Amino acid sequence: MDGGEGLTIRVPGDKSITQRALILGGLADGESRIRGVLRGADPLATGRALGALGVEIVGLGGSGDGEVRIRGRGLRNWRQPKGALDLCNSGTGARLLAGALAAQPLSAVLTGDASLRGRPMRRIADPLMRMGATVDYLELDGHLPMRVTGGTLAPLGHESAVASAQVKSAVLLAGVGAGVAVEVLEPRRSRDHGERMLEAMGVGVAEEDVARGWRVRIPSPAPRLRPLDMEVPGDFSSAAFFVAWSMLAGCPAPCMVRGTGLNPTRAGLLSVLARMGGRIEVVPRGTAGGERVGDLRVDAQAARLQAVQVGGDEIPGMIDEVPILAVLAARAEGVTRITGAAELRVKESDRLAALAANLRRIGVAAGELPDGLEIEGTDRPLSGLVESFQDHRIAMAFGVLGATPGCEIRVDDPTVADVSFPGFWRSLQRVRKWDSRGVGRSRAARSPAGGTANSCDAIGDRCLVVAIDGSAGSGKSTTAAAAAARLGFRHLDSGAIYRAVTLALIESGRSGSALEHVTRGELSGLAIDVKWREQGMEVWAGGRQVAEEALRSDRVTALVSQVAAVPEVRAHLLDLQRSAARGPGLVAEGRDMGTVVFPRAEVKVFLDAHPTERARRRLLQRGIRPDAAEIKAEAARLTRRDRRDASRSIAPLLQAGDAVLLDTTALDPAAQADAIVRLVEAAGTDR
Ligand code: C5P
Repeated sequence: MDGGEGLTIRVPGDKSITQRALILGGLADGESRIRGVLRGADPLATGRALGALGVEIVGLGGSGDGEVRIRGRGLRNWRQPKGALDLCNSGTGARLLAGALAAQPLSAVLTGDASLRGRPMRRIADPLMRMGATVDYLELDGHLPMRVTGGTLAPLGHESAVASAQVKSAVLLAGVGAGVAVEVLEPRRSRDHGERMLEAMGVGVAEEDVARGWRVRIPSPAPRLRPLDMEVPGDFSSAAFFVAWSMLAGCPAPCMVRGTGLNPTRAGLLSVLARMGGRIEVVPRGTAGGERVGDLRVDAQAARLQAVQVGGDEIPGMIDEVPILAVLAARAEGVTRITGAAELRVKESDRLAALAANLRRIGVAAGELPDGLEIEGTDRPLSGLVESFQDHRIAMAFGVLGATPGCEIRVDDPTVADVSFPGFWRSLQRVRKWDSRGVGRSRAARSPAGGTANSCDAIGDRCLVVAIDGSAGSGKSTTAAAAAARLGFRHLDSGAIYRAVTLALIESGRSGSALEHVTRGELSGLAIDVKWREQGMEVWAGGRQVAEEALRSDRVTALVSQVAAVPEVRAHLLDLQRSAARGPGLVAEGRDMGTVVFPRAEVKVFLDAHPTERARRRLLQRGIRPDAAEIKAEAARLTRRDRRDASRSIAPLLQAGDAVLLDTTALDPAAQADAIVRLVEAAGTDR
């Protein structure tokens, strides 16, 4: 991204294409080489699942943008996995893998996070069962977790009730894997990345427009798949957020989103934006991996956006863009009506309900239709806290709106954006910075609302934040305290807050599993609070300060990680922790500071040290002169607690992608603080 004459943005690789390249690469005969892959949470989950199935993938985990190599095992040669395959949030991963697994002579359990477990699976499981695979739902009928037992399959002609590329791809993958003819009739044409890729691998795919919809056939699957050698284009759905931002922010100079995939089954939003009055030019740049690629140039808005009517055949080609369209509609003149989009109710969230609820929360009149939305645009200032509903596109859409003049919008869990767009918030911050250089115009003049624009932020105004995470005993507290003292910043010890909740729950008579069944109302009743004094942070509960010894007592230490894994507890403490980001600066220390609480912290550090050294420090801290046996026992306890913190499904202890890893085994606290102060100084000059 640069300032130049206009603003230039590049977005990460296409999620759908990356996912398909990984799975198809795993079925190929030989090594596939893929460049420009999306290293988001969804492809990483698919990559891990493929790894468990014996497919070796090199270069996916790194933070760089190097080539990924997939060592394909051939069509029916995947390995029996040892445990369940956890696809986390990835619907594409789960559904396409189910299709591929149906043809493998093995049995595998597919599962995912709460959002994915809530999504319908029957639409793919039914056709796969008709082909001869066995699908068992292990908990809830029609949902993950489910066991797919594959083997010899029969040909299938399938009529899908929904225009879904995932259903289509699952059936095609099963057919190709098993070497049998398959045909899918969908009511409208859904995205065709899978078909293009199969053709590039040597499979003949026939497609035709028929009276009842769109028909795709593989009459005689190839006996083997040629490996892929391709470049993944930028994700149109990610690009759409910046196109929308330029339209909403009233950028004074053109904004260019480079290298974006322009597959006609994906780029349907462009014609809708043109109808709204957007001035977007497509500059073709050839093809990559059989997909059209180009730059999107967005020119300064000449007039206020106009409301639109969108529905019918238009929806499949812009299904992922409805959230950002809804946000644009909130600022357009008139009432926008979106219909024919019932499919959005079974995406990462019920997107129709999520959009309507969030729009209303920030002051926009929005109504849900059974299959769409009605949104009345406004130019009034918009403000409020919106909920991401564990849905990346909901979080990013409102983040975009929050980054435009006249808005004060906070997103409760910005980290969900990592699913498809790691670094999204940083990119948004950068374009805003570029915009605020103001090319000859005042913010007020550029506001689409025409009124005085506020400086607005997707997470709210706050001071410089240093997020320090790490394992137990890695030196976080001492280092954070020392760094905060040297910088004159506040020091937030988030562990102490979790300890205070644990103590209050124990004192209210809870034990065992009752510690985990606590409602938000009951948590509010505990009145956990933080007060900032000259000498540092005090933790209060029930109107009284909690003593340090009580917080660090053995019974609290033994139970705190169990309590900290309760989603209601974590959600309840979020605002309290974020409210600490005031004054000259904050050093926030814990397990999820850089990932959940302050995902846009200017400095992120992840501390680690050898378990034995961590145990020694912990014991010394407690005034014990430890011998080898005590150190060993304490190291085992710490490792257990870390394992629990790292494996919980909500806010697990993990190093943020943009955090600096600091191994403190051989560093004393002063040297650790030094390192952090240097990072803060570097970030300060960057701001
Ligand atoms: O840092 P400390 O050891 O006091 O934290 C106690 C426990 O609180 C941790 O083991 C972890 O389970 C939990 N915790 C957390 N998230 C934080 C801070 C602490 O889950 N941000």
